[in-house]
Amino acid sequence: MVAQIIINSNVKNINKIFDYNVPTSLVGTICVGDRVLIPFGKKKELEEGFVIGFKETSDYELKDIQKIEDGINLTKENIELAILMAKRYFCNISDCIKLMLPPGTLSKVQDNRVKEKKLNFIYLKQDIEDIKEDIENNIIKSDKQLRVLNFLIDNDGISKSDLELYTDTSNAVIKALEKKEYIEIVEKEVERDPFSNKNIKKTTNLILNNEQQIAFDKVKAEIIKENFKEFLLYGVTGSGKTEVYLQLIGEVLKKDKTAIMLVPEISLTPQMVERFIARFGKEKIAVLHSKLSIGERYDQWRKIKSGECKIIIGARSAIFAPISNLGLIIIDEEHDSSYKSDMSPRYNAKELAKYICKINNAPLLLGSATPDISSFYMAEKGEIELLKLTNRANNSNLPDVEIIDLRKELINGNKSIISTRLYELIEENIKNKKQTILFLNRRGFSTFVMCRECGYTVKCKNCNITMTYHLKENKLKCHYCGYEQKNLTVCPECNSKNIKYFGSGTQKLETEINKLFPNASTIRMDVDTVSKKNSHEEILNKFKNENVDILIGTQMVVKGHHFPNVTLVGVIAADSSLQVEDYRAQERTFQILTQVAGRAGRENLPGKVIIQTYNPDDFSINCAKEQNYDKFYETEIYLRKQLNYPPFCDIINIVVSDVQEENVKNISYKIYKELLKNIEYNKINVKLYKPLPAPINKIKNKYRWRIVAKGKITNSLIQAINNSLENIKFKNTKYYVDTNPSNMS
Ligand code: ADP
Ligand code: ZN
Ligand code: ZN
Repeated sequence: MVAQIIINSNVKNINKIFDYNVPTSLVGTICVGDRVLIPFGKKKELEEGFVIGFKETSDYELKDIQKIEDGINLTKENIELAILMAKRYFCNISDCIKLMLPPGTLSKVQDNRVKEKKLNFIYLKQDIEDIKEDIENNIIKSDKQLRVLNFLIDNDGISKSDLELYTDTSNAVIKALEKKEYIEIVEKEVERDPFSNKNIKKTTNLILNNEQQIAFDKVKAEIIKENFKEFLLYGVTGSGKTEVYLQLIGEVLKKDKTAIMLVPEISLTPQMVERFIARFGKEKIAVLHSKLSIGERYDQWRKIKSGECKIIIGARSAIFAPISNLGLIIIDEEHDSSYKSDMSPRYNAKELAKYICKINNAPLLLGSATPDISSFYMAEKGEIELLKLTNRANNSNLPDVEIIDLRKELINGNKSIISTRLYELIEENIKNKKQTILFLNRRGFSTFVMCRECGYTVKCKNCNITMTYHLKENKLKCHYCGYEQKNLTVCPECNSKNIKYFGSGTQKLETEINKLFPNASTIRMDVDTVSKKNSHEEILNKFKNENVDILIGTQMVVKGHHFPNVTLVGVIAADSSLQVEDYRAQERTFQILTQVAGRAGRENLPGKVIIQTYNPDDFSINCAKEQNYDKFYETEIYLRKQLNYPPFCDIINIVVSDVQEENVKNISYKIYKELLKNIEYNKINVKLYKPLPAPINKIKNKYRWRIVAKGKITNSLIQAINNSLENIKFKNTKYYVDTNPSNMS
């Protein structure tokens, strides 16, 4: 008997299926999904692999499988899913398998939950893709260092002692990697089980209102029937969606089945989890998120696998939790872009959830206050059943939204980034001891620096992108590769000292606010203040508990948390998300403005929202003002149809990169020609565009080109793309294929 084995390795060229002989001693015990040890090439150590299938004979001379490793074995479904994903998302099977493996190496796992309060944690300092490349190119020579990096690729953010244990290395190895800037060591307060000492009051089912009851009954019927069906629960924030989720999960438990609930990572707050614990108790719930130590992650994994935990709450990758007996998957805030992975494997958790529900005969429930345009379209077509909640469950009112035309401010001589109206309202709010949130979706101080004399702008030396000025460090930073340089005082082109700063980021906004309201307390939240040490949770808690007057922040302020004392929300520049060159610019603008507006006046106090913009007539801004999703949808779907954008087609982005631009161009054209041939031969209905430099045509010293295809992503198109790519010799040139990417740059 011959086993087909996929080797579990980060090295791309051995990431293929190999045939191995099954020795007679193993015939009868070996199964698909088993983890095995096998000899490979001239290496002394055995490699680890997974059995993905069997066949009778092979054309090659085969080596024997050495051993089946006990402990972890994946299920047949896992392997099937991994194979499907590799095809669908144009990536390696072993990268997909990794998503389904338990964290850490089994033999070494022990109960090493943290005992101390402060611990050193190790994080990768560079992009995973870059590190993988260095590994492939043999830049890292030391075996121990390689072991550590390979381990971190799968387990970023692990405590130093855990890391040493799992990789059998010492302090010296870690220090060496730190010196080479592959990793960083961060001292962190360890949050032990945040629920251990808390006395969480048990809650019981509320009496559902009419609409909630209808929604509940419909989904419940499918849970009982054990039938796949997709639902979209569309209801404004506070309309009682979570209560419906809770009661449906209750039904799943009654059938002794398991439920998965996906939420965006940033919404996965202790308060959110608490509501589930309050209803079902701590024991049944597993929470999967990136801040768990590896021991804790393994614990959760084991409890899910054993069937002890029947409710799994987690971000995108929780879709791979090792459950059996699935009864329901819920995807809350289903419009959120975090469900689409922007790293390899570039999977879409919503698409996979549908696949998993189908094979398990379980319903899938999507929920949102601002559904994804594509989901709503499917609901309109009847492919998804629409369930509506039209009223806020606790009868609080929607905030009052006002649009301020910034062009008029300029005419009236107000050059500040705060309009007169917003200024007055902030002042009043401070006086009344109420809190304000100011939202600006750009970080840093100034977005670009330009010479007034000759028009020279400072660009990153590694990327074709303007650098952002950061005031505190007095430095220019590249937001793509992290490159920093000294601030400019003299133009390098014409020696002029007339250097001007354009565009405002959150840093500048904070400086301005401190100038305008010197007595007000402020706190800022963006990628620069939220670090591995200082979680976004901590900043929000501080804002809430210390009653800080003004919270200034990027997108991060939009999600999670109830702030009962926030009565004013100011959007400083609604236009920033409109200017992005992406077919979803309007959709994102609408979603984000609607969500920001929802932060004001959530309890008894009435809320006020100010949206400042240079495009007061834009329909996404106006629909957000009215909090009118239906109107927004009507306009947007009409435009999408006219322009042939999703949901009327899919956009497939093939990005090619290399330090040599010549290689990028050559390979791009080879892919293009090969794919064109394939498409024409198979008569696939898709529009293929000629290769062109990507919008950001150089990142980290690598030139980037892209090939765009517009058409439905059918099996025949997937096959054509895979076949075309297999026929090309890439050598050192990299590529990836992304379907409906969350970022088109
Ligand atoms: P959403 O998830 O849509 O934001 P929630 O489920 O959090 O809405 O409900 C908002 C608030 O209304 C919560 O405080 C919740 O306890 C309350 N609520 C929800 N459903 C009901 C109901 N049927 N009766 C009374 N209160 C409800
Ligand atoms: Zn100049
Ligand atoms: Zn850069």
